[in-house]
Amino acid sequence: MRTIDHWINGALVPSTSGRTSPVYNPATGEVQAEVGLASIAEVDQAVANAKEAFATWRLTSLSKRAEIMFKFRQLVDENRAKIAELVSIEHGKVPSDAAGELARGIENIEFACGIPSLLKGGYSEQVSGGVDVYSIKQPLGVVAGITPFNFPAMVPMWMFANAIATGNCFILKPSEKDPSVTLFMAELLAQAGLPAGVFNVVQGDKVSVDRLLEHPDIAAVSFVGSTPIARYIYSTGTANGKRVQALGGAKNHMVVLPDADIDMAADAAVSAAYGSAGERCMAISVVVAVGDVADPLIEAISARLPKIKVGPGTDAAAEMGPLITGEHRDKVASYLAGAAGEGATVVVDGREADVPSQGFFLGVSLVDNVKPGMKVYDEEIFGPVLVVTRVDTYEAAVALVNEHQFGNGTAIFTRDGGAARQFQFEINVGMVGINVPIPVPVAYYSFGGWKASLFGDSNMYGPAGIEFYTRTKTITSRWPDPSTSSVDLGFPRTR
Ligand code: NAD
Repeated sequence: MRTIDHWINGALVPSTSGRTSPVYNPATGEVQAEVGLASIAEVDQAVANAKEAFATWRLTSLSKRAEIMFKFRQLVDENRAKIAELVSIEHGKVPSDAAGELARGIENIEFACGIPSLLKGGYSEQVSGGVDVYSIKQPLGVVAGITPFNFPAMVPMWMFANAIATGNCFILKPSEKDPSVTLFMAELLAQAGLPAGVFNVVQGDKVSVDRLLEHPDIAAVSFVGSTPIARYIYSTGTANGKRVQALGGAKNHMVVLPDADIDMAADAAVSAAYGSAGERCMAISVVVAVGDVADPLIEAISARLPKIKVGPGTDAAAEMGPLITGEHRDKVASYLAGAAGEGATVVVDGREADVPSQGFFLGVSLVDNVKPGMKVYDEEIFGPVLVVTRVDTYEAAVALVNEHQFGNGTAIFTRDGGAARQFQFEINVGMVGINVPIPVPVAYYSFGGWKASLFGDSNMYGPAGIEFYTRTKTITSRWPDPSTSSVDLGFPRTR
């Protein structure tokens, strides 16, 4: 059986812990590899190497760091097909979805290419006689990222692009379910000229996560995953004195007002609910149908469902792939089994769909007449299940969204600009779409939900990412007699 290693100090390093976890091909159900799960000693080794590398990496000029990011961007671009294939074979994504994930990930590298401008500080001249004040942003040291299975390429890029561009060394603990793509990215970073030890991949489970959370040489932890683990990461990491950003789960509502374009809303709901088999933290999982829009909207959504082609990532025509594991597929299916008993109406039942018999496939499901208090409404299902809640008024729709435990993303579909503006003003959710169903911010904004979707105060990537991976030093200076100039006739250039 093929084994999947760590990447430590610029090279592949096999795990010696003796503990492994199976990596499935979700489209066939077969175990295709075993990933080694790091011991505490292996984590410590990676952190020690990273700490050593930090001493020189932080001296590396901004122009050199930018040059490495530009080269890395070029290498990722040249290897798009291979990266998408690596994502697809371990995650199960269909080609268009894997390519989309990568495209959104690359945005973060492009953002980090601008690191010389991003690290510009402030300067105040003559705050007092002959006294100036300025501030600089310095890296934290060794920082860690712990990532979920559902975006094995993009979510690590949310973190490490800014972390290393700002001068930190990075330890990534990817999901043990689809760990290979990060090793390929490590190779590309090395090819781009990144020194050994600056970017490391430690494969593992709770043992390595716990070690990272308590290790005295880890300054900050970025986490993306489910809410119970995010809550744990935040409380444990901060109790150990670390800066922590921990992004959790979601239940994203799409509010459809009676004046909305029904076909546009139905297209958006279907795309956003079932894309990536619903395994997206920004997937639409609840449609809130306001007033008399409900019946025509459900009819329009239902009409689209039989046309969705479910199949493996190797089928270029497939639009929706399998779920990540058999266990997760069964958990998603259990919500459907429970929905009718709770009083909901299962309009389309994915368990009855004609899908490939091998692998972890489940058809798409649509559940109507769902209300708060039902499990299908209250909990994150993270599968191809769209539920519909009917309300009479816009105010009732807003109350529903605001009362839900999660606050990651939401969307409103309407032709009324005033209603949309009111919605953006009063909705308690971190990312809002107006006629846009999956409002994942571009990389030069920042990503973050509210309520149980994010623990800590820091959003991820973009300007918030630069802040997260640096700390500010403010200098007050007086130079009574500056005479530091020398003659140099060469054209000034960055060094
Ligand atoms: P998960 O919480 O099970 O795992 C995430 C990471 O935590 C993995 O690296 C895993 O190895 C580690 N982990 C798991 N259990 C742990 C434990 N007990 N102690 C320490 N570490 C542990 O999440 P997942 O199933 O990989 O991903 C799906 C979840 O991630 C969904 O809830 C989804 O909404 C969420 N997600 C959120 C965002 C966001 O931006 N808010 C983005 C993507 C995914």
